[in-house]
Amino acid sequence: MESIFSKIVAGQIPCYKVAENDSFLAFLDINPLAKGHVLVIPKVQVDYIFDLDDETFIQLNLFAKSVAIAMKKAITCNRIGVTVIGLEVPHTHIHLIPINEVNDMNFSNKKITLSNHEMQKIANYINTFI
Ligand code: AMP
Repeated sequence: MESIFSKIVAGQIPCYKVAENDSFLAFLDINPLAKGHVLVIPKVQVDYIFDLDDETFIQLNLFAKSVAIAMKKAITCNRIGVTVIGLEVPHTHIHLIPINEVNDMNFSNKKITLSNHEMQKIANYINTFI
């Protein structure tokens, strides 16, 4: 079955795009833990990250690195935290989250709400550093 992220890749549903190349896409998490919370996905739909072939796994992580470097320039924070969970959407995705302390990576924290305008503005701003 097509994942919601495959529908984003196909342009069937919208996203706040941060960066893209032929094989990978970075966009804002719709339910962010922090301002500028980004998801990085391979365009090919593979549920479990460790089922990716080695080359796709390496290139996905290199793409995520370039996005994280851009995020750090765009957003005031200590670090960009990295995690993979994947219990909700069966399409490999890396969470990149601007953090100041370890608890900022806690997915039980209350999510933040930003306007469409603000989400678009953040996505565009990170993109200027790619
Ligand atoms: P998990 O699979 O547990 O890593 O969580 C999936 C993540 O995808 C959650 O943080 C959701 O907020 C996020 N998410 C789900 N649907 C969308 C969407 N249409 N656009 C952006 N992010 C989404």
